[in-house]
Amino acid sequence: MEIVLSHLTKKFPARGKKNQKEVTAVNDVDFVIPDGKLVGLLGPSGCGKSTTLHLLCGLQKPTEGQILFGKEDVTPLPPEKRGVGMVFQNYALYPHLNVEQNIRFPLENLKGAEKLSKEQMRERVLEAAGLVQITELLDRKPAELSGGQQQRVAIARALVKLPRVLLLDEPLSNLDARLRLQTREEIRRIQTKTAITTIFVTHDQEEAMSISDLIVVMKDGVIQQTGKPQEVYDDPSNLFVASFLGTPPINLFEGRVQDGRLLLDKDAVLQVKGVPDQAVHVGIRPEGFLLQKDGSLSCAFVRREVMGRDVSIVSTHPASQAPSIRSIVDAESCQNLSGETVRFALHPRKVFLFDKTTGARIPCEIKER
Ligand code: ADP
Ligand code: MG
Repeated sequence: MEIVLSHLTKKFPARGKKNQKEVTAVNDVDFVIPDGKLVGLLGPSGCGKSTTLHLLCGLQKPTEGQILFGKEDVTPLPPEKRGVGMVFQNYALYPHLNVEQNIRFPLENLKGAEKLSKEQMRERVLEAAGLVQITELLDRKPAELSGGQQQRVAIARALVKLPRVLLLDEPLSNLDARLRLQTREEIRRIQTKTAITTIFVTHDQEEAMSISDLIVVMKDGVIQQTGKPQEVYDDPSNLFVASFLGTPPINLFEGRVQDGRLLLDKDAVLQVKGVPDQAVHVGIRPEGFLLQKDGSLSCAFVRREVMGRDVSIVSTHPASQAPSIRSIVDAESCQNLSGETVRFALHPRKVFLFDKTTGARIPCEIKER
């Protein structure tokens, strides 16, 4: 089912002496989640991700705006009437209930036409447990499960009511690195199989990029950019988005556009069309540096770090905003790297210019010298 968030705003009032300012947790958020897709809602802590989910599931009422599920305006509906399955960050299972009872819990209080018989409940529980592959754990108590297994129970519990929408709030944050990797693929598998429209909240850009059909990048309650992960990575709309996506992160420089050339300190690195002379922020992705003897960017070599197939070259440059620059090159191209200077040519499509004051991307055509 398609979900529409239309001019959605949530303000929390100022409270007492400590919180003297009203907080706008979600600020005029406008986007459409296509039917059956997995959308990754991404942003730093405090940017309004959880609040957005709480508005969607009905735990909180928006100050302004509307939420549509398909054609239906669900804004005035209480949580139980929305058909939403939610997995919270701490996935709070009931410790005294076993896995089966935990999963069944949301079904017990269904009333009227929705009421299920014992057999129907059992069938639903088995179906949900099968989907997350914990059928053999139904008799156990939560304390007898690993973190990853508890997570699966929480997901099964969210799925058992056959929700129209699945909301996951940082569902992997309590798992260790390896389990996170495994569980995120699991979530993708379940989502693909059930085709439930899903919103997956995370502060981890890699996690969001890897499993989402679409990502929504948020900052201070405001959507910065939405799109397919690769498109947002390749074409960031501002400095925040460019810096937030990518590991290792984008390298930032103080640059200058002058007479159609992009200058980083004394190095004229690229041609720029359509930009009046001005100082700019320059972002260069780590894979945008190409080792070249007569390359236009001249850096001081610090060290190389082998990272499996690739090699990371750490260097410095006077125009770099960070103490060092990190570039990724393939192992073969830097076998006989030596000396104090390392020179790079830059890949024009991996270089972005941003406005010095607003941080907005400056539209322009960038070419090799
Ligand atoms: P995230 O999930 O992205 O970390 P949240 O949605 O939890 O962010 O919070 C967004 C902002 O709203 C934060 O500044 C937070 O302090 C504030 N906030 C969240 N919930 C409440 C609340 N119930 N009362 C007051 N302020 C809140
Ligand atoms: Mg949160």
